[in-house]
Amino acid sequence: MSKVNEFTAYRGHVISPRDFNSYDDFVDGCLLVDHDGKIVDVGDWTEVLAKHGKAAKVHEYGKRVIMPGFIDLHIHLVQIAQTGRSGDTLLGWLNKYIFPAEVKFARMEHATKLADWFFRELARNGTTLSSVFTSIHKNAADIAFTNAAERGCRVIMGKTLMDRNAPDNLSEDSERSLEESEELCAKWHNYDNGRLLYAFTPRFAPTSTKRQLEGAAELFHKYPGSYMQTHLSENSDEIAWVKELFPGCKNYLDVYASHGLIGKNSLFAHSIHLSDSEIDRLVESGSAAIHCPSSNLFLKSGVFPYLRAKTKGLKIGLGSDVAAGPEMSLFKVMKDAAYVQSELWLAPRELLYLATLSGAKAVNLDDQVGSLEKGKEADFIVVDPTLKSSVPRDILEQDADEILSSMVYVGDDRMVVETYVRGRAIYKAEESNERKRDALNVGS
Ligand SMILES: [Zn+2]
Repeated sequence: MSKVNEFTAYRGHVISPRDFNSYDDFVDGCLLVDHDGKIVDVGDWTEVLAKHGKAAKVHEYGKRVIMPGFIDLHIHLVQIAQTGRSGDTLLGWLNKYIFPAEVKFARMEHATKLADWFFRELARNGTTLSSVFTSIHKNAADIAFTNAAERGCRVIMGKTLMDRNAPDNLSEDSERSLEESEELCAKWHNYDNGRLLYAFTPRFAPTSTKRQLEGAAELFHKYPGSYMQTHLSENSDEIAWVKELFPGCKNYLDVYASHGLIGKNSLFAHSIHLSDSEIDRLVESGSAAIHCPSSNLFLKSGVFPYLRAKTKGLKIGLGSDVAAGPEMSLFKVMKDAAYVQSELWLAPRELLYLATLSGAKAVNLDDQVGSLEKGKEADFIVVDPTLKSSVPRDILEQDADEILSSMVYVGDDRMVVETYVRGRAIYKAEESNERKRDALNVGS
C-alpha cells in the first residue's frame, strides 16, 4: 500500500546542469519539494514516488521543462526605464541617459513604482537570483529591498557608491555614503535566512575616491557573506581614464586589489580587456567575472575573453546588464554569449550551465541554488518553448539538447510559464496579463 507524504511534486521534463558539458535529464521527471521549499528528491517520476510515497500535492506539466531558475549577476534596477537607448559608448551613454534616470530615484514615488516593475519583470523572465545595483539613494534601496522581500525574490543588492566624477546630485559625501551602506546591510543582509544579501557597490573606479573604495572594502570584510560588486575593464576610454586617475596602480584590477576589494564574493562585471596576469589574480583571489554579452554588443565595448577565463578556471556568471543590455531575459543573454564568440562554439548545455549553476558558483551559493538537487532550495522555472509561435509544436518530443537549443536561440520571456523561489510561485503566466498591462504604464 502506498503511503501519502506531505510534499509537493512537480512532474515534467526535468533538466538540470551538472557542469559545462553535462546535465541531468529526466523526461518523465519529478521534483519533490517540502514545506520549507527544499528539494527532497529529484529523478524519474516512478522511482521518486516509489521511494517517498504519493505526494500530497501534484503539479502536472506534461512534457514542459522544469529547470533551475536563471541567475542574472549584473543588472541595474534604476536603469529599467532606459532599455534600448543607444547611440554612444559607455561614458557618453552614462551621461546622456543613465545619470539623469538615476537622479529620479530621490523621489520615493518613482522609486516605489520602478522597484515594483523591476522585480515583477525579473520573475516574469524566470530569473530567481539576481545581483542588483540601485542608485546612490538609501531610501530607494530600502524600497527595493522591501519589494524583493515581499514578492519572494532572491536578491544580492546594494546602493551604488559615487563620491566624485558624477553629476552634483549623484555625488555623495564619502563618510555618509559608507554609513548608509552599512545601515542598509545591517537591516537587509541575510534577511529571511539569506534570501536577501547585501553587496557593497562602488559603481566603478572613476566615480569613487580612495577613501570610498577603502571604506567599502572595510565593510565588505566586516560582514560575513556580504558581496562587493563593481565594473571592471569594460571600455577602452574608461580604462585610459582609470590609468590617469590611479597612476600608481599596475592595471585596472590593481586599483580594486590595492584598496582591498578583491576576494571571495567580489563580482566584477564585464572584465573584458584583461591581461593574463589580471585573470590569474582574479582566480587566485576567488573573485568572479560577470560576463554581460548583450551589453557588450550594445555599447560596442569588446569581447569577453571567454576561453582564456574558462581555461584558467575563473568563476564566470552571466549578467543582462539592463539597461546597457536591452533585455532582462537570460535566454537572450545566453544567445548573445554564443554569438559574441566568433570562433568558438558554445553548446546550448554549456550556456544553460553559465546561466544557472556557474552563476551560483560565482556567488558561492551553489550549495543552495543553481541546479535541481536533493537538499538544495527549490528555485526553478517551468518552460514551454512552444509558447513562442515560431517554435515547432513537436519540439518537446525531442531530446533535451534539441529543446535547449530552441530555448537558447529563439527563447524569450514568452517561454516562461511559472517561476518559483524556495518552492513559492513568484510568477504564473496565466495570472499575469493584467500585470503586464500595468507594467506598460509605469513610464520613465
Ligand atoms: Zn553595469
